[in-house]
Amino acid sequence: MPQYIPEPFRIKVVEPIKKTTREERAQILKTAGYNVFNIPSEKVYIDLLTDSGTGAMSDNQWAGMHLGDESYAHCRNWFHFEETVKNITGLKHVIPTHQGRVAENLLFSTILKEEMVVPNNNHFDTTRANILANGGIPLDMVIEEGKDPDIYHPFKGNVNVEKLEDTICKYGQARIPLVMITVTNNSGGGQPVSMENIRSVRALCDKYGIPLFFDACRFAENAYFIKMREAGYKDKKVSEIVREMFSHVDGCTMSAKKDALVNIGGFIALNDDSLTGRLKEKLILIEGYFTYGGLAGRDLEAVARGLVEAQDEDYLAYRIGQAKYLGDCLKDAGVPCLKPTGGHAVYVNARKFLDHIPQSEFPGQSLVVNLYLHSGIRATEIGSYMFAHKDPKTGEINYPDMDLMRLALPRRVYTGGHLDYVAESLKELYAIRHSMKGMRIVENGELALRHFVARLEFVE
Ligand SMILES: *Cc1c(COP(=O)(O)O)cnc(C)c1O
Repeated sequence: MPQYIPEPFRIKVVEPIKKTTREERAQILKTAGYNVFNIPSEKVYIDLLTDSGTGAMSDNQWAGMHLGDESYAHCRNWFHFEETVKNITGLKHVIPTHQGRVAENLLFSTILKEEMVVPNNNHFDTTRANILANGGIPLDMVIEEGKDPDIYHPFKGNVNVEKLEDTICKYGQARIPLVMITVTNNSGGGQPVSMENIRSVRALCDKYGIPLFFDACRFAENAYFIKMREAGYKDKKVSEIVREMFSHVDGCTMSAKKDALVNIGGFIALNDDSLTGRLKEKLILIEGYFTYGGLAGRDLEAVARGLVEAQDEDYLAYRIGQAKYLGDCLKDAGVPCLKPTGGHAVYVNARKFLDHIPQSEFPGQSLVVNLYLHSGIRATEIGSYMFAHKDPKTGEINYPDMDLMRLALPRRVYTGGHLDYVAESLKELYAIRHSMKGMRIVENGELALRHFVARLEFVE
């Protein structure tokens, strides 16, 4: 059997994409201040900036959009949405939101008090920001293997259970309103968490009486990795594995822009009756009535249908296979990548790729800019440009562990042919890597989320 699995769909609506010339791209980059967020999407040939909300909906989802019931309260799509989330998660209450970060904001602004601590394998950046904004302390405790791009481990997203217990003992359970596990671990490279690890964290939470929540954005991709890699799961259906995963938690936050295969949407699901009441009250204040939560009836319908489609095993084999295929092409060409390839993206080790560029000159951002210049592909930097900030006390700059370029794969959007083009482009760039220059920030370098707004130039 060939490793590459063809797309399990045929295409009936197409959206043209256009190539630009190198001269045009050089001018576009200059105008954009060498920040790829500023590039008009029509000037991008293949867009791997993010997998969030960029997927293609199915004919079934589009058909559902036409059945949107736009009544204000208790529309029929709400009932379908609620029933679907309950069936999949087994959780008791469902609260719709318009995207994942609102779910986080609602939850943390309601449960956090000053100085409370929230452990996670790795907090995603919006989760971290929402905890900080509400006076809490986000703590990351992924296993050691999860921090090293060159080590193979089947479940690099696992929580370090010993460290978690030490943390609970250090702060005391009263200061820990919940423990979170992000499945798959986005900030750690889209790496999965094993069922065994979820069970161990659950046991620890039970021991200390602390609720456990998932950041569930890529729950289906995580379940597929469990099926492929964990003993005892290869004959189970993904939907059964999903149900088992959720049976260990008291609630979850979800961005439907990932594994619900839609362009906008999210939710919280949970068992706690009294917390649900408080969340619903606040939801009405910031999003809307609790049966639509900032979404149109048609959006609720698309989420309900997408959540089911995301668990389809042919789809998941294609999805996870596509990332692996691109990762393998790059590895075969000698391009240094984070190992093993995760579920939603391939991460190129930019510090190794451009080992002549110091961290202070952002090797990851240089690679992102050079990739666009070379072939019109848009990726994103996850490294010093995004994270290296001056310590306000010491004035020293804290650099992150890794300098990566992320090639995120939108769901059901690009074909194997597109991926070959991406792999070929990077192979060509690798051959001329020593000609690439470092970068410096010339505007907005002091802002916390500077990667969205800064302007840069090449170091001559
Ligand atoms: C995308 C994402 C979020 C935030 O969701 P939005 O819909 O972008 O607000 C939270 N956690 C993880 C792991 C994510 O990938």
